[in-house]
Amino acid sequence: MTMTTRVLISGASVGGPAAAYWLARSGFDVTVVEKAEAVRGGGYPIDLRGVAVEVVARMGLLDAVRARHIATRRVTAVNRSGRRIASIPAPAEFGPSGPTADLELPRGELTALLFEASRDHAEYVFGDSIAALQQDGAAVQVTFESGRQGAYDLVVGADGVHSNTRRLAFGPEEAYHRYLGHSFIGFSVPNTYGLDREVVLANSPGALAALYAAGSRPDLHVLLAFRTRLPERAELADRSYQRRAARAAFARGGSWTDRLLDALDEAEDLYVDTVSQIVMPTWHRGHVALIGDAAAAPSFLSGEGTSLAIVGAYVLAAELGASDPGSAMLGYERRLRDYVRRNQALASTSRRFLIPATRAELVLRDCGLRLGPLLIRSGLLDRALRTAANAVELPDPPARWSQQAGRRIE
Ligand SMILES: Cc1cc2nc3c(=O)[nH]c(=O)nc-3n(C[C@H](O)[C@H](O)[C@H](O)COP(=O)(O)OP(=O)(O)OC[C@H]3O[C@@H](n4cnc5c(N)ncnc54)[C@H](O)[C@@H]3O)c2cc1C
Repeated sequence: MTMTTRVLISGASVGGPAAAYWLARSGFDVTVVEKAEAVRGGGYPIDLRGVAVEVVARMGLLDAVRARHIATRRVTAVNRSGRRIASIPAPAEFGPSGPTADLELPRGELTALLFEASRDHAEYVFGDSIAALQQDGAAVQVTFESGRQGAYDLVVGADGVHSNTRRLAFGPEEAYHRYLGHSFIGFSVPNTYGLDREVVLANSPGALAALYAAGSRPDLHVLLAFRTRLPERAELADRSYQRRAARAAFARGGSWTDRLLDALDEAEDLYVDTVSQIVMPTWHRGHVALIGDAAAAPSFLSGEGTSLAIVGAYVLAAELGASDPGSAMLGYERRLRDYVRRNQALASTSRRFLIPATRAELVLRDCGLRLGPLLIRSGLLDRALRTAANAVELPDPPARWSQQAGRRIE
């Protein structure tokens, strides 16, 4: 007798809805549990590159994503008082090898598209979370925070860098957390800078202040990233501590960053975290698998986290749709390991570009920026990024909306 395989996905951002779409398409019975009350809107711009664009196309979402493409016009570095040091114009001039992504859109717009694509094929439960997981050989017994209980053949953790599923099935985050030496604070400010589809960067040694103008939106995204020792959890949660830490990092930043620090004092929508990666020896244990940031966060420095989440969701679902679960999990890891490794490795190169650690590195970076157009034309600037973004062979897509139920995992 064939029975439908029940899959529980934790997290409804990028990887979760993408996995829900592809697993449902393979005939699995999918439930997604998300701790927020709804799919989170808004958010900073994220990128889709290389094979991730192909996955989005296979979902039939390419036109919708293209319609939301920000088409960033340039990246400009400014000095202490906001005067332009150098500017790299955007892809329109350079074709696909420009300094920004193949496709770039606000995170909330991508997650809304992925949710819409999957919502009729999966059950979504908002405002809940997995409280306990127990693997009993044939299935995973799940108790939710709400008290509800359920048995699933497979649980997929797509719940981000601080994954709850990973903690419950693989142990504490500390074992997998690779700290990249910096903290960051994200918030928004009104666009009183007159910016339009562009990025402006200002640096002090070991500190970056970036302003993103994502299209015609009335607000700008600010990202402050600065070198720190690994903060304690309590320090990360303490907003006034973080504001003081940012002020210390930009103490000699000049009037341009002072203006942002003043805005930080007023900001209500702060998002604070460490710049970190997740590195794990395996992404599955029994009937639990991890995808996206939960499995292998590359950090925002790589610019590849969203692509990894989309591609990971697709590869896991395609492997599960094509072979027995044991082989599928091995196939998932085998296909993705090198891709993930290369994309995580981008973070250190990008750190040198985005957050030069010393005055000398900063001078060198600014020289590089002045040569930007030349480097882009030569393909040197983004060769590693392009290679990494395409470093996986996608399996064939699962059969189109199979009526046949998925296999039960024994
Ligand atoms: C400031 C910043 C800038 C970034 N810039 C870029 C960029 O330019 N390009 C790029 O590609 N990537 C960027 N990223 C990274 C990108 O956002 C992530 O890599 C991507 O969102 C990962 O998707 P995910 O679905 O794996 O996890 P997430 O997007 O982190 O989603 C996790 C989901 O799980 C939910 N969740 C958490 N805990 C639970 C729980 N206990 N139960 C149920 N649900 C839970 C969360 O609410 C969330 O909806 C950036 C990240 C940050 C923070």
